Amino acid sequence: MIVILKPNISRKEETAVLREIRRLGYRPHVMRGVERTVVGAIGDERTHQSLEVLGSWPQVERVMPVQKRYKLVSREAHRGNSTINARNNIIGGRKFQVMAGPCSVEDEFQLLTTAHAVRKAGATILRGGAFKPRTSPYEFQGLGHKGLKLLAKARRETGLAIITELLSEQHAELVAEYTDIIQIGARNAQNFQLLIAAAKTGKPVLLKRGLSMKIEEWLLAGEYVLSNNNPNLMFCERGIRTFETYTRNTLDLSTIPIIKNESHCPIIIDPSQGAGRADLVMAMCKGAAAMGADGLLIEVHPEPAKAWSDGAQQLTIEGFARLMEELKPFIAAAGRE
Ligand code: PEP
Ligand code: MN
Repeated sequence: MIVILKPNISRKEETAVLREIRRLGYRPHVMRGVERTVVGAIGDERTHQSLEVLGSWPQVERVMPVQKRYKLVSREAHRGNSTINARNNIIGGRKFQVMAGPCSVEDEFQLLTTAHAVRKAGATILRGGAFKPRTSPYEFQGLGHKGLKLLAKARRETGLAIITELLSEQHAELVAEYTDIIQIGARNAQNFQLLIAAAKTGKPVLLKRGLSMKIEEWLLAGEYVLSNNNPNLMFCERGIRTFETYTRNTLDLSTIPIIKNESHCPIIIDPSQGAGRADLVMAMCKGAAAMGADGLLIEVHPEPAKAWSDGAQQLTIEGFARLMEELKPFIAAAGRE
């Protein structure tokens, strides 16, 4: 950490700061300028007590950290790209992975029709919410356990792997029993006890970005998964809340190069929650593929107009097939298959 002292302080005040830096386990390195003195505190900020308390001392102007607050998710911890195996589908490797399916699991016909269709078009992982986080308690909350059973049936029939959301710590064991990937939704992205429970199931975790979450907070939330002995974490950008009204959220595609720079974990883009508009999904997917995302999470419904949740953003089966066709050159351009 760097500790900047106020100008014109006494030697005694300076010495007190140096003594405190030593007491907290750091080695002070004093740099005396013309007007003020800057102290570099040498030591690992992640294993020593923070020096931030010094910021409230009257003779200190500012304390600045130099190390990142996350370590296990950081690129420094693992130089290569990590890969995740979900039922023999490798996420983060050469193959670009497409996860597709309805927002919510509604019934057997809806889920199985969609599952067969997305598999035929080239998806490898089936999405579908059994436990749904809804803004209003009067909206459809998901089929729960019955929805999980339908997902398992769809997996048996199609061979697709499954991703579904975990809403509550109480359901961690149950959801893990059925799913291949646990989705942590935007509304729970900083529910740390839930993240720990998800990590402890040992299943791969897809962590959505929270509605108003900074990238650093997102990386630190991911750190909860890795620090609980689960290395299988992927990030998923799904749009953040801004002042814009043309879209439901603002899909932040800059997170692709940023997460790639900061972390070794795969990054997935969800253009469905991202824009909230089916007509924008194609363009967002092409952009995400070209920018180096590791995969997509896309909502597809046999009859979007009749969907029990998120109707406006779900693609039709035909629309999804067209998307998969048009996506090919963009995936190839990014050096993926
Ligand atoms: C979803 O995937 O249907 C969903 C609820 O996502 P989010 O948590 O990103 O809103
Ligand atoms: Mn949805």
